Amino acid sequence: MEKMILIKYGELTTKKANRNFFIKTLTTNIQNVLKNYDVKIKKDRVRMFIEANDDILLEVENKLKKVFGLHGITICYKVNTNIEEIKNLSLDIINKEAGKTFKVITKRADKNFSIPSMEFNNVIGGHILKNTNLKVDVHNPDINLYIEIRDNGTYIYTNEIRGIGGYPVGIQGKGMLMLSGGIDSPVAGYLALKRGVMIEGLYFESPPHTSLEAKNKVIKLANILDEYAGGIKLHVVPFNKLQEEIFKKVPHDYMITIMRRMMYRIAERYAKKRNCKILINGESIGQVASQTLSSMSVINNVVNMPVIRPVACLDKLEIIDIAEKIGTYETSILPFEDCCTVFVPKHPVINPDLNKCIEYESNFDFEPLIKECIDNIEVITNLKQDDYEEYL
Ligand code: ATP
Ligand code: MG
Repeated sequence: MEKMILIKYGELTTKKANRNFFIKTLTTNIQNVLKNYDVKIKKDRVRMFIEANDDILLEVENKLKKVFGLHGITICYKVNTNIEEIKNLSLDIINKEAGKTFKVITKRADKNFSIPSMEFNNVIGGHILKNTNLKVDVHNPDINLYIEIRDNGTYIYTNEIRGIGGYPVGIQGKGMLMLSGGIDSPVAGYLALKRGVMIEGLYFESPPHTSLEAKNKVIKLANILDEYAGGIKLHVVPFNKLQEEIFKKVPHDYMITIMRRMMYRIAERYAKKRNCKILINGESIGQVASQTLSSMSVINNVVNMPVIRPVACLDKLEIIDIAEKIGTYETSILPFEDCCTVFVPKHPVINPDLNKCIEYESNFDFEPLIKECIDNIEVITNLKQDDYEEYL
């Protein structure tokens, strides 16, 4: 008997044309996540099997719970397709489970095996009934016992864990996530990853108005998101000079609007350089003055790239629920200032006018400043450095 992890791809298998690409990407992602573990990965069209020593199997299973594209994960046992062996193992497995009722579900992928599935359910069910105090319940059993008879052996397992779902990260190409230290943007990044979009993070900092702690907080958030992706890069834009210029040259009620138009310009240009197809951010309709529909459209006006806002239609409490679930909330609520919060005017405009924006922007030569921002972006590839932690 061998013990291993069985993985189901679920939603993937329905996308016939792309199946090979999906499975290949998923396999690479799993290899990345498990690169520090001694495992063997085997796969076919509908299943993947991960073999590892017993002592790390649970740890491996926990890692897999964060891999997008997995719909079912279960520890399973494999024996030769031999009726006596299957009976014995089924009994052993079901004896370890808590519950009073059970149901056997046989799948016969190997049609050379002569007993039809329904009949085999009865053979194994009968054996269990004879040797335990369990009862059969076909509608709502405490224990489902799955038996998959496949070409190279029979796999037996009980209740499976639901995988995290979604598509393998990377199958949709890359997006540039505007990542602040807040609650919303990490959640937006997570949701984009879930649909198969690999992300790169873009953080605007304004030292000395913003602190090193604020930056380390964003690195930490990127690092948490990286557990779901593997290989996220964070790009840090030195935004202070441009921001100070905006502060000097633009009427204060329009400061945030213009500032965000500059952010969008920088994000789009840099995204193109990094081969990203979309921008992603954590804007949520109506949350603040710069996120009214009027503000959003005036700000969006400076870019052509699609801007995806995964949390646009969620309430703050719904966003917080996700942040807690994915592990970013605790870090997001640390009280370090962001560049948006440093230069906040008393009365930001709620319905900005596009012509006024254009007029105010013509008051200063922002292009060289944008170029300077982009030229001086710091790229952080090692998000796990210990130095970052000590500031948090
Ligand atoms: P979050 O929205 O992440 O909780 P926030 O609410 O403080 O943070 P907002 O002012 O609502 O941020 O900004 C809306 C969105 O703009 C953010 O979700 C983020 O995508 C982007 N953004 C804001 N500030 C920054 C920044 N300093 N660097 C990168 N992106 C930013
Ligand atoms: Mg927000």
